[in-house]
Amino acid sequence: MTKQRPLSSETSHTPAEKLLAWYDRHHRVLPWRVTPDDYRQGVRPDPYRIWLSEVMLQQTTVEAVKAYFLKFTGLWPTVQALADATEDDVLRGWAGLGYYSRARNLKKCADMIAMQYDGQFPQSVDGLKQLPGIGDYTSAAIAAIAFDIPAAVVDGNVERVVSRLFAIKTVMPQAKVEIRKFTEQLTPQNRPGDFAQAMMDLGATICTPKKPACILCPLNDNCAALSEGEPELYPVKAPKKARPVRYGAAFIIVSPQGEVYLRKRADKGLLAGMSEVPNSDWIAANECATPEHIMQLTSAERAPFAAQWLPSGSITHIFTHFELRLSVYKADVTSIPPSNNGWWVAQQNLGEEALPTVMKKAIGAALPDTFK
Ligand code: SF4
Repeated sequence: MTKQRPLSSETSHTPAEKLLAWYDRHHRVLPWRVTPDDYRQGVRPDPYRIWLSEVMLQQTTVEAVKAYFLKFTGLWPTVQALADATEDDVLRGWAGLGYYSRARNLKKCADMIAMQYDGQFPQSVDGLKQLPGIGDYTSAAIAAIAFDIPAAVVDGNVERVVSRLFAIKTVMPQAKVEIRKFTEQLTPQNRPGDFAQAMMDLGATICTPKKPACILCPLNDNCAALSEGEPELYPVKAPKKARPVRYGAAFIIVSPQGEVYLRKRADKGLLAGMSEVPNSDWIAANECATPEHIMQLTSAERAPFAAQWLPSGSITHIFTHFELRLSVYKADVTSIPPSNNGWWVAQQNLGEEALPTVMKKAIGAALPDTFK
């Protein structure tokens, strides 16, 4: 008679327990987080800091967010302080992070919390979702991390981990429903916030899009995609459509004192309310566009006024729904025609303006030392 092998302590643990034990040892130290040790001592993260970091982290890397987070919390340490700031100040602080509607919603949300919620974040997923700019993901993240509510927190990293753990064959984005269901099943009642952060860390450091380090993964015993042999196949993606290309021209206007001329973008639409250098409309050209047509779209003839426009290279910038290619021109001028409604900024002060990255690239093409 063969003896039955006892279950090892490793296999008798749930995936959440294994992941939390891994998180205790390997968590990333981030300025908005409370460490697992502090958590056990009863310390809870400030919902303001969790909210701010989560909004910043949408579409942006952790490394890029750290400096912005420290800047924002230095300037505006509380949600009330952020509500007291002007929208222009917030946009200026945000410049370079991209997706500027997030900054405007940040300000609106701070205003609402200050005026309607007595400066306190609502302590439920549904309550949080009533606030501007807070959707399924951010409400669940704040609820779990700041208020210990076992909400399923599903970002891109978690989607990847869960789709691999369960080898979900449904194509994205349709697979999101299944992924959410499985994440709900995995999320524990105990330490749901640390569990959410552990899933994010696992996705960012071990279960990476390419070459996941499965040998180091605390969930490798549970992973269906690993058993199949090709975890990189998950999440299953539909074939990508080519991004359309738009063309235009940007004009760097420099005064005799070396200042650069800026203006404000319209209050609605892409990069609304941000600063910019004068530039033409951005016009889409299909794959069959002739070189002559593209030259026309990027020509100095599209300048806001006549001047000695010198070609200063070109830049490419990727937006979510299109790629932008701008030819850059520079002119030294002594005055601006009165119909132009902008302002002059000394080159060393350009970093303080609410300039989106695309505009910084354009200025950098004509004045290479500006943003060094
Ligand atoms: S075993 Fe590999 S593929 Fe599966 S969750 Fe862990 S790192 Fe990801």
